[in-house]
Amino acid sequence: MENRIGKEIEQLRKEIPSGVTLVAVSKFHPVEAVMEAYDAGQRCFGESRVQELLAKIPECPQDIRWHFIGHLQTNKVRALIGRTALIESVDSERLLELIDVESRKAGVVTRVLMQLHVAREETKFGFLPEELLEYFREHRFEKLTNTHICGVMGMASNTDDMERVASDFAEIRRVFDQIASDSSLGLRGFDTVSMGMSHDWPLAVRNGSTMVRIGTRIFGERNY
Ligand SMILES: *Cc1c(COP(=O)(O)O)cnc(C)c1O
Repeated sequence: MENRIGKEIEQLRKEIPSGVTLVAVSKFHPVEAVMEAYDAGQRCFGESRVQELLAKIPECPQDIRWHFIGHLQTNKVRALIGRTALIESVDSERLLELIDVESRKAGVVTRVLMQLHVAREETKFGFLPEELLEYFREHRFEKLTNTHICGVMGMASNTDDMERVASDFAEIRRVFDQIASDSSLGLRGFDTVSMGMSHDWPLAVRNGSTMVRIGTRIFGERNY
């Protein structure tokens, strides 16, 4: 078991194509586990709970880029602003507007991804593809002053049916492409498609992922 985390990071780095960002999902794992990955060169980490993230930040090196990947409650937004390199899980327009307001107050620009809901069952969070397309088609993003939308994030259905998983990923990528290729929107830096976890990331990459979020494979099972 000696330095198993570091070895997984090194192995993943060989497997993941260059150009795809690895987010090491450290939620429910202690700072010691984060540090093992850090010592193997990992700098980008994902957390899904605000309290846990805020507790870890002062205990960890300053050059870590923290991604928030969980459902963000509106009453926790203020505490999170200025602490993240990327909020991957913007799942409603109301949340997005609140992030913008709080970012303006704090004098920072917050980078975010829009979470898409394509999976059949698991989560109720996220924009339906048509909702997100409409959001951009109507140029509603133009009123944001302190939020930079960098792309989309999504999860595939939690099923052994790999055709289903592949088609979920393809759907996420299709929605991204439709937005990214619309030059009338004038988007800048809309270039990130975050999809793929421990068990399905190769399929996500084959379907156009540019960012994978991997927890269990690196850190082992979580004790909730
Ligand atoms: C926990 C989590 C992951 C990591 O999942 P693993 O199966 O442990 O790799 C990825 N994305 C999100 C949004 C998560 O909540």
